[in-house]
Amino acid sequence: MKACDEYSETAQLYFDKELRGTPVAEFRAHLKGCAACRCALEEDEELSFILRQSRPLYSAPDSLQARVLRAMRDSSSEQQTDVQLSDIRSEHIPSDKSTKK
Ligand SMILES: [Zn+2]
Repeated sequence: MKACDEYSETAQLYFDKELRGTPVAEFRAHLKGCAACRCALEEDEELSFILRQSRPLYSAPDSLQARVLRAMRDSSSEQQTDVQLSDIRSEHIPSDKSTKK
């Protein structure tokens, strides 16, 4: 049986869901018999829950995405609708008339 100190790194990996294979089973077995490690893990979970609640991480990408999309639309409309369409029209309409007539 390992001491609790030896599980601190394992607990961190387990909490980050980066622990795989035999160590997971081993750590879970230790958790069953060790209230101290169970408490530490619960405290970690609680802390990350509080951090997630106080800082809404998912609203930032949304507003950023909207800003990027708007910027893209603005720059593309500047390039296309005004300049290119009028260029194409002024080039093609007169030449069409002159070739048909
Ligand atoms: Zn322990």
